[in-house]
Amino acid sequence: MNEQRTERVAVVTGASSGIGAATARALARDSYKVALLARRVDRVQALADELGDGAIAIAADVTDRDSLVAAAARVKAELGTTDVLVNNAGVMLLGPFSSERRADYRQMVEVNLLGAITATEVFLDQLKDGGGDIVNISSVAGRTARPGNGVYAATKWALGGWSESLRQEFLPDIRVTLIEPGAVATELPSHITDEATRAGVEQAYSSVQVTAEDIADVIAFAVGRPKHLTINEVLLRPANQA
Ligand code: NDP
Repeated sequence: MNEQRTERVAVVTGASSGIGAATARALARDSYKVALLARRVDRVQALADELGDGAIAIAADVTDRDSLVAAAARVKAELGTTDVLVNNAGVMLLGPFSSERRADYRQMVEVNLLGAITATEVFLDQLKDGGGDIVNISSVAGRTARPGNGVYAATKWALGGWSESLRQEFLPDIRVTLIEPGAVATELPSHITDEATRAGVEQAYSSVQVTAEDIADVIAFAVGRPKHLTINEVLLRPANQA
């Protein structure tokens, strides 16, 4: 439950599916006004319609700064100043590094890392205005690495270092929370381009019981703490994940 003032405004990137959509629902349940950002605008529009008053859908690509600038202006005009930014948009294009999937590597860096950095830079003035929260969705892969997830892990490790720097720079006005989930049952593996890797990861994910809602509840709890307390880092795994 949100213990801060009601009517806070939250912006969630990648709100069209999985953890982002569940986080938007959880924050709306806790009386936040929510801006739902994603490229698949039909999906975020359907979610905004479901959530009703106080929810807006915005077509935004986190690799396109202009679309984020336009989104920030719409949020301020239609919902008010942003209090919470959830940098959730991400892609996990796993595969052997030797497969030379250069477009995949670049996309992961541009979405997972540069996308979060750009969204934060664009929304920073609003977040500073009255105190805010930045929630960066990292991963267990931001703490460990294994063959086949090198560039994905690199983006998530980078989010950890960047988050800690932001935490120190902006305290006490902006709180920074890093969320590091293990496997969560979402469509994330379906975008893997290396067929053998995709088949293996989808098979492994088929028995995952942790849901996007499980992660969203933790995010809502973290940003709902009183302003004098920050939950800086949360590592969550399925209970049976090695
Ligand atoms: P989904 O694939 O369901 O969600 C990913 C979201 O990112 C989608 O809403 C997608 O929206 C959005 N997205 C992708 N590219 C862009 C872009 N260029 N601009 C804007 N939005 C974009 O996966 P999850 O919910 O699982 O993933 C959410 C986050 O959680 C990611 O950062 C992921 O790395 C992280 N994570 C997930 C884990 C898991 O096991 N599922 C574990 C650990 C971390 P659209 O395509 O409409 O733009």
